[in-house]
Amino acid sequence: MTKTSKIFMATCKEGRKYLLETEAKAVCMEYDIPVTKFKLAKNEAEAVKFADAIGYPVVLKIVSPDIIHKSDVGGVLVGLKNAGGVRKGYNLIMKNVKKHNEKAGIVGILVQEMAPSSTEVIVGTIKDPQFGQTLMFGLGGIFVEVLKDVTFRIAPVTADEAREMISEVKAYPLLKGYRGMPPADIDAIVKILLSTSKLVMEHDEIKELDLNPIMVYRKGAKTVDARIILE
Ligand code: ADP
Ligand code: MG
Repeated sequence: MTKTSKIFMATCKEGRKYLLETEAKAVCMEYDIPVTKFKLAKNEAEAVKFADAIGYPVVLKIVSPDIIHKSDVGGVLVGLKNAGGVRKGYNLIMKNVKKHNEKAGIVGILVQEMAPSSTEVIVGTIKDPQFGQTLMFGLGGIFVEVLKDVTFRIAPVTADEAREMISEVKAYPLLKGYRGMPPADIDAIVKILLSTSKLVMEHDEIKELDLNPIMVYRKGAKTVDARIILE
């Protein structure tokens, strides 16, 4: 059985529909979708050990089956520069989460490589009752949230269709570089769209998937946050 199938089975067994970020990113890795390096810490000392190994600056994030939008509860801290910052950050996240929901189950705190900021894009899927697995693409932040500048295709998509998706959003010119931002590696985005298409075609039990944001660089890309919801 594949790692992805095992993760989905374990999630169902626990009566969950949302994958933890660690699980969603493990699925991404199996499908060659690039993600930020991460390690799950169970205590403060481990968090420091992992941060030292990953290299500063790091990001800390809450991992809890009861928290879907991590930053809404003060569960994400970015740009921690040293061991002292990680120690303080670890305790601050725990405090924030407990204040939000005393009963929230806590799996641990994710120590993560900090992806340098760059052009942000979003790749998503939604299982449409009529059309089945459908792929979405857009630029991150206001482009998706305010301007709804997104494009859809029914999966599976070919490389040509993936390229078309990217070029048909209104914000496309921004991917070619603006205000000191590097031109984005379009091929890297095409690859992620193809991998995501393959993933949902092989796993029709995925109801929704959200890679948001993906930082795209001159060369390569990195998924910073991944959500997968099962049926
Ligand atoms: P959520 O969407 O659950 O609130 P995210 O994991 O998306 O949490 O984190 C919130 C924001 O923090 C992201 O949109 C991104 O701007 C930033 N961020 C999170 N992880 C990283 C990372 N590894 N590197 C750089 N920025 C990050
Ligand atoms: Mg997010």
